[in-house]
Amino acid sequence: MRGVDTDVASITKSFVNHVQTSLARQASNLDDLGAYQAAALSVRDNLILNWNETQLTYTRKAPKRAYYLSLEFLMGRTLDNALLNLGLKDQYKDGVQKLGFSIEDLLDKERDAALGNGGLGRLAACYLDSSASQELPVWGYGLRYKYGIFQQLISPEGNQLEAPDPWLDNQNPWELPRLDVSYEVRFYGQAERLNDGTPRASWTGGQEVLAVAYDVMIPGCYTKTTNNLRLWESKPKRGFDLNSFNAGNYEGAVESSNSAAAITSVLYPNDHTTFGKELRLKQQYFWTAASLADILRRFRNLGKPITEIPDYIAIQLNDTHPTLAIPELMRILIDEEDLDWDKAWNIVNNTVFYTNHTVLPEALEKWPVPLMEHVLPRHMQIIYDINLFFLQAVEKKFPGDRDRLGRMSLIEEGFPKQVRMAHLACIGSKKVNGVAELHSDLVKTTILKDFVEFEGISKFGNVTNGITPRRWLDQCNPELSDLISKTLKVEKSVWLKNLDKLEEILPFAEDARFRKEWAAIKQRNKERLAHYVQTTLGLTINTHAMFDVQIKRLHEYKRQTLNILGVIHRYLTLKAMSPEARKKVNHRVVFFAGKAAPAYYIAKLTIRLIVNVARILNADPDTKEYLTVYFLPDYSVSVAEVLIPASDISQHISTAGTEASGTSNMKFCLNGGLLVGTVDGANIEIAESVGESNVFFFGHLTPDVEDLRYQHLYHPIPIEEKCPALANVLNKISEGMFGDGGVYEPLLNTIRQIDHYLITDDFDSYIAALAMVDEAYLDKTEWIKKSIRTVAKMGKFSSDRAILEYAESYWNLEAVSIAK
Ligand SMILES: *Cc1c(COP(=O)(O)O)cnc(C)c1O
Repeated sequence: MRGVDTDVASITKSFVNHVQTSLARQASNLDDLGAYQAAALSVRDNLILNWNETQLTYTRKAPKRAYYLSLEFLMGRTLDNALLNLGLKDQYKDGVQKLGFSIEDLLDKERDAALGNGGLGRLAACYLDSSASQELPVWGYGLRYKYGIFQQLISPEGNQLEAPDPWLDNQNPWELPRLDVSYEVRFYGQAERLNDGTPRASWTGGQEVLAVAYDVMIPGCYTKTTNNLRLWESKPKRGFDLNSFNAGNYEGAVESSNSAAAITSVLYPNDHTTFGKELRLKQQYFWTAASLADILRRFRNLGKPITEIPDYIAIQLNDTHPTLAIPELMRILIDEEDLDWDKAWNIVNNTVFYTNHTVLPEALEKWPVPLMEHVLPRHMQIIYDINLFFLQAVEKKFPGDRDRLGRMSLIEEGFPKQVRMAHLACIGSKKVNGVAELHSDLVKTTILKDFVEFEGISKFGNVTNGITPRRWLDQCNPELSDLISKTLKVEKSVWLKNLDKLEEILPFAEDARFRKEWAAIKQRNKERLAHYVQTTLGLTINTHAMFDVQIKRLHEYKRQTLNILGVIHRYLTLKAMSPEARKKVNHRVVFFAGKAAPAYYIAKLTIRLIVNVARILNADPDTKEYLTVYFLPDYSVSVAEVLIPASDISQHISTAGTEASGTSNMKFCLNGGLLVGTVDGANIEIAESVGESNVFFFGHLTPDVEDLRYQHLYHPIPIEEKCPALANVLNKISEGMFGDGGVYEPLLNTIRQIDHYLITDDFDSYIAALAMVDEAYLDKTEWIKKSIRTVAKMGKFSSDRAILEYAESYWNLEAVSIAK
């Protein structure tokens, strides 16, 4: 197959061609948006050829393939990433410059693909990048939401407002519609067992919806391998329902077509909470059913016996959202392939893998049995059958242990009864993993403890999350990436795919010239961030202060409240100082960004408090030189790419045992920002890697949490006694220092009363940790050494390491190289 020519002259020619033909515009009269589109289409030509060759090779070689099922893919922008992975950035930079454009301006025209809420969706995106970069035959499957995560606006009072995210409005050059790849998906209707001596049933009637494929090409880094992310869009099976028209029911006919399209219309904006909404259940089944139908069609083309499915297919469930893959595969094998129950179950059990992402009770998915019976009657029958056989086996191993049966059942008793999706995902999978060492231990000792006792420990493992160093170092921090290459005298194509090589920069921590370059890059990244804030918000930032960043979804367990209360404490301390004394204080700029779920009242109140604290502090002539606060609206992957390289410290301060892993902690440390955190999630492994002397830990440990919560409930200590500094801060808020104090009472009361997230227990040690940060920052040389040492030891946190663990220890998958 002939490749695309990639010299600068060919690039400008291809660019102009796309302007004239694909866009039907004139090159002499083109704006930046048009130029971005032409550049994207031109880059896409390269991807398409590589994609074709990759898929041909997979078909010809028929390797085992893995499928990553994720309801969210938080991809961000594509053009820069594609240019870097293809090694064409410099050529395109020159090419568009010759035509009178700046590549940076064009890159800036692209809208983020934001089909995800936060960490879980971004993880899926990193894993696709790593799969392609490590030449693994992995496809992603997800939904093509018409609207991604909402755009966040902040009202003058400081309230979060949500606006829709019409990300497809300007056309999307990165997807290929595959109108010929479509499947019918059924909802509702009747399921009747055949009772013919087989476990078969027939499922008929109800609503049928069409799933249509859109393919997104996923280029690997410096390799031809270009994998696929297939996203499904829902469409009415027929444009309209003729019977309804004939019956004179025009409105009903239109409504039925509306409801089919509604399935993929919007991403649910909840992170770490479940809602039990019918449309969400329909999204989950629609996506799972279409993906499985597609996977099995590909398998059938191989002409292999159905029992060999586990030799050719591994299906990874990203959290419990795609758990219906388990009863759906059973349904296909039994009702359509006529397999007996045990054979079918054995196939499922050797094909499916489950990653747990949380132990928080409010995040564990449960579906009401009546809703399941209504929407998916056949699947509910299958789940009951799975449960029956499963509980019989448990009873055999633990005779007479009725409590255990109740705890382990797939069905939770109550009104209504509910299906416990984590239990179903666990017993239907070959292996189960958590996403950091501590989290995986908690999974085994808390929510799945009974399952470990029943099935044995070897089924349960850990794969610590990772991040792609392509986007999260090379793309977002090009100067640092260049400095590393220059210093190591190693090509990016080598060290970006073997991140342990970073360790070789360790000796340069002792090299004064290297440190100077390192510090200068950090300074320029701060100026880049300041420029972004200036142009988007019109605010001027002091780039000579320490940059302290906490950016992540707003959630009580992540404790942005602890941070803002700490800021107020610092402010009150500054106010009480003499002007002379203040001059000795470390200047600090505190950044927040993050979205709250639209119905999450306390989280939204936290945003309001942050915005109003910023308003007061940034205008106070006594202190604004020493302490300012910014809440940057509409946090996204692209905003993260500007903030992260500019940070001196970042905060990952969840209540111990609540953050499964965290991945932004890894992004900051890979960019030379130091970590302030609790002993939680991947913070622990980061500290093990970079050395405890290079992180700032504080707070109670996981084993203490249960006792502390018990104390809060049954032996509460007045907050004035327990933590006077905090009591003072809360009182100042109540008294109206940041606007109408009454507004914040519901938020303050969560702390004064139950304090489930242990703000009162951790406040003093948090303040002490920040004092250590100030102390350490005084010695600039030592600080830069810490920064260098941190980056040097971050190799483990490449998502390449993580995806190779899945490939080797879970999926039994081998790399497939694509001929040059
Ligand atoms: C990495 C990332 C996250 C995850 O952040 P945590 O701090 O680990 O929760 C969320 N949102 C975006 C846009 C990210 O890039």
